[in-house]
Amino acid sequence: MSREQAIERIGDYFDGGGFFEDLARRVAIPTESQEPEQRPELYRYLTDEMTPSLEALGFACTVHDNPVPRGGPFLVAERREDAGLPTVMSYGHGDVVRGYDDQWRDGIGPWKLTKEGARWYGRGTADNKGQHSINIAAMAAVLRERGSLGFNPVILIETGEEAGSPGLREFCDANKETFRADVFIASDGPRLAPDRPTVFMGSRGVFNFDLSVDLRDGGHHSGNWGGLLANPGIILAHAIASLTTASGEILVPEWRPPGVPASVHDAVANLEIDGGENAPAIDPGWGEPGLTTAEKVFAWNTFEVLAFKTGNPDNPVNAIPPRATAHCHIRYVVPSDRDSFVPGLRRHLNTRGFETVEITPQEDPMAATRLDPDHPWARWAVASIEATSGKSVAVLPNLGGSLPNDVFSEVLGLPTIWVPHSYASCSQHAPNEHILEGTSREALEIMTGLFWDLGEAGTPARS
Ligand SMILES: [Zn+2]
Repeated sequence: MSREQAIERIGDYFDGGGFFEDLARRVAIPTESQEPEQRPELYRYLTDEMTPSLEALGFACTVHDNPVPRGGPFLVAERREDAGLPTVMSYGHGDVVRGYDDQWRDGIGPWKLTKEGARWYGRGTADNKGQHSINIAAMAAVLRERGSLGFNPVILIETGEEAGSPGLREFCDANKETFRADVFIASDGPRLAPDRPTVFMGSRGVFNFDLSVDLRDGGHHSGNWGGLLANPGIILAHAIASLTTASGEILVPEWRPPGVPASVHDAVANLEIDGGENAPAIDPGWGEPGLTTAEKVFAWNTFEVLAFKTGNPDNPVNAIPPRATAHCHIRYVVPSDRDSFVPGLRRHLNTRGFETVEITPQEDPMAATRLDPDHPWARWAVASIEATSGKSVAVLPNLGGSLPNDVFSEVLGLPTIWVPHSYASCSQHAPNEHILEGTSREALEIMTGLFWDLGEAGTPARS
């Protein structure tokens, strides 16, 4: 019985088609959480698929209704071996975004796992069924090799992540005892590069808001009224243009982080962003001057205009439109003060004469979280992954994207370690979502090594 043999076991499971088979069953369940009529599929995923799979590994499973009526159910799976052993909380989401069935390439589709060369296509392969399936399979390999895990896992699978995780916060807050743990280890999102094992410990926050200029009731003929009536499209365009330089450097002081801490700089400064095949070319002159590409994504804030509308773009007429709207957002890192974003913007706009621009923040912003790259659990995880893969691990204090990580790091107070198994060009949320075969096999080995090590002496929980 050894770490090497556990890793060999997981390799055999993969090579023998076991992983493909398990994932294919899960992908086949159309758990589209944004489609209310698919709600029974959310329950089916938890009760008919995940519960039997986890019970076979000695987990006690309970499916809970969501405290928020529109939210999907939760599965809590616990295997309590011994109160003296470390406890790990893990997490995954069983729901997926819409399948967009008719937009996939010929020969592939969202609900049938299909292998084409080194790619496995199917909705949820990357986000997130493939990722939590890897972690559960890795625990199974350790359990079979050692006879026990050597730690107490408690796994939470939610089914509303793609709908904004309704009720997740309330559910965790109400079940703090259940989720009391030494560390949180889970998987979602992309690696820095397909071949580069990656660890991230938090996520950027996201703050969405609308800007609008609403001047009057209807449009007015531009020949009779042009030059007399203010044009809301022009006003809003100027207002937006004042928020950044022409190359995207943020000019609103409250939207800028105070700086890049030394430990974050050291962790990310030399990382190369590699989206893999088909990734877009990076625009070198865009964003904050003086930062590396990795610092721009992992250590800084960005402002984006996501949509901008005035008049009727599909059917323009010769009239001064009555209103203009833009949907915008800020991605932000710790320790930016989210509460200052709107007051800072208001002051910025007013001092430039843009009092007519209205700001409407959207509900449910996601908080920014970050764990220091020098945290003992981060160092432990990185050492374990390096031992398994023989590669240098990319360590990100936070992901560039956003996750409801503050529920785990703030509400539950856990050190959060994310080990992503996908890559940036996996087409998650789009047609042709896929995972890479080599990355998935390596991820299974890495997680088996990690869970093996969690049951050994020398974890931060025991030292
Ligand atoms: Zn997603």
